[in-house]
Amino acid sequence: MRKIIVQKFGGTSVADTEKIKNVARTVIREKENGNDVVVVVSAMGHTTDYLVKMAHDLTPTPSGREMDMLLSTGEGVSIALLAIAIQAAGYEAVSFNAMQVGIMTENVHSKARIIDIKTEKLRKNLNEGKIIVVAGFQGVTEDGEITTLGRGGSDTSAVALAAALNAERCDIYTDVEGVYTTDPRVVPNASRLNEISYEEMLELAHAGANVLHPRSVETAKQFNVPLRVRSSFKLDNLGTLIVGVDKMEIYKPVAGVAADSSQARIVVCDVPDKPGTAATIFGRLAKENISVDMIIQSYARKVSNTNDIAFTIDSSDLAKTISTLNALKAELNCGEIKVDDNIAKVSIVGAGMIDRPGIASTMFETLAEQGINIRMISTSEIKISCLVDKDKAQQAVKALHKVFELECNEVADVKGTLPDV
Ligand code: ADP
Ligand code: ASP
Ligand code: MG
Repeated sequence: MRKIIVQKFGGTSVADTEKIKNVARTVIREKENGNDVVVVVSAMGHTTDYLVKMAHDLTPTPSGREMDMLLSTGEGVSIALLAIAIQAAGYEAVSFNAMQVGIMTENVHSKARIIDIKTEKLRKNLNEGKIIVVAGFQGVTEDGEITTLGRGGSDTSAVALAAALNAERCDIYTDVEGVYTTDPRVVPNASRLNEISYEEMLELAHAGANVLHPRSVETAKQFNVPLRVRSSFKLDNLGTLIVGVDKMEIYKPVAGVAADSSQARIVVCDVPDKPGTAATIFGRLAKENISVDMIIQSYARKVSNTNDIAFTIDSSDLAKTISTLNALKAELNCGEIKVDDNIAKVSIVGAGMIDRPGIASTMFETLAEQGINIRMISTSEIKISCLVDKDKAQQAVKALHKVFELECNEVADVKGTLPDV
């Protein structure tokens, strides 16, 4: 049986027609290797940002449904252009949007999760020898409503398609040569990793390493999809393979550093210290589909018997969060609600930090030496995050990257043909 390879090309890789021709060549190369190819593409260049801006020129609070209608058009352009480019090179190709394929999602706008992908149409067209080009980022509900998966979500479309089709592997082609120890645009001597575990990649992606959409890593891990991040422009470089933790040999305590500047901090002041308060706040936010990241509750003040609850959210949810909390104010009997979006979350991630004391203190000392104040801290088994002032985020990343010895020296380039994984 022929193997199915899923390839995904991001916005930069399809930014203009010359680049689309380059993508067509890469796709055809894979087809010529004797494989069936399903290609997922994002919107061209900064199209999605541009569409978001136009909507916000009209109103600060566009409806979720119409935003999804709007944003899904970006991918519609690139799938058709890529299919035309492949056909122009003499190969059979067909483009499909999410509705045509049946990429079924839950009924949530702007960050829908994929529930199911229908494969009949895809298999039929693959059997006819066609290269299939699918729109990333978009989905459809049972009622035929268009949804999107969240910014950067085309990675998740690709991995979910690979899982549904039981593909041999999913290759994410992008504008860097793989996953690095931190964003190579911030720290030019960041090291490219030949391998990284699903667990570490998931934490890094959640911490702001936008090279992969977090849910793509989650899906790859769940369905055991071999996932590779590689360059659209340097095809002989095999990039980074995301692997199960048991396949990894050695760990440095820290595998990577990431920053996320798209967060906002909310403090609900003077909430009565009684059972059910946190449940009310976070229950109501969850109902509004607002994800909360770090949470800190202060000690109860003896005299007033109140405390403060601080938490972070994605800035894109800020307006909704404030209106939800304002509506709760009377019920909570709380004080002021403070908002600060001048913050960034800086994180170190590494499976090697488990049971290795001193990693957190090194992080805190490094930030202190840089004169960077820590506003909140959160930890998981393999991640430590600190909230800092937004304008200090890059300085923090550079210092942490250095102190944990992640700079490029020993990681060799892997070149050659792709092994069967
Ligand atoms: P695409 O449009 O191909 O989806 P993205 O812009 O979403 O590309 O993701 C690629 C970008 O992710 C890179 O250009 C890089 O600046 C950024 N990035 C952040 N952290 C990392 C990291 N640890 N390794 C590699 N790239 C990273
Ligand atoms: N075009 C969408 C975005 O810019 C999806 C993606 O690029 O993955 O977020
Ligand atoms: Mg992306």
